[in-house]
Amino acid sequence: MTKLSKRLRERDQRLTRFAKRYPAAAADVLRALDQVRHFRGESSEHDCATCPAPADEWQLVKLSRREGPRFLLWSDEVDHYLPFCSPCALDAEDRRRAALDAIWYPETGE
Ligand SMILES: [Zn+2]
Repeated sequence: MTKLSKRLRERDQRLTRFAKRYPAAAADVLRALDQVRHFRGESSEHDCATCPAPADEWQLVKLSRREGPRFLLWSDEVDHYLPFCSPCALDAEDRRRAALDAIWYPETGE
């Protein structure tokens, strides 16, 4: 198994766990993504925001209007999402977690 597919599988398992624990928030995430697709189209209609590959998922990148618990963040602002290919989406999630940490724990931020 490649490193990428391992990371993707771990993410799937993590999301499945959180969706079971927080079903209402998981439904909010899906509803927000439906909104993004409705107004901006399928992610596959776009190039990845950070590399030349075709995108295959939307990721929330701006946190100013975020809702939901830490691992099931969503926003009603469809412009706060960007399209990413899978490898870049994992990096985008890492950056989002770091940005969230900086918001929540500013005194420990670098
Ligand atoms: Zn990419």
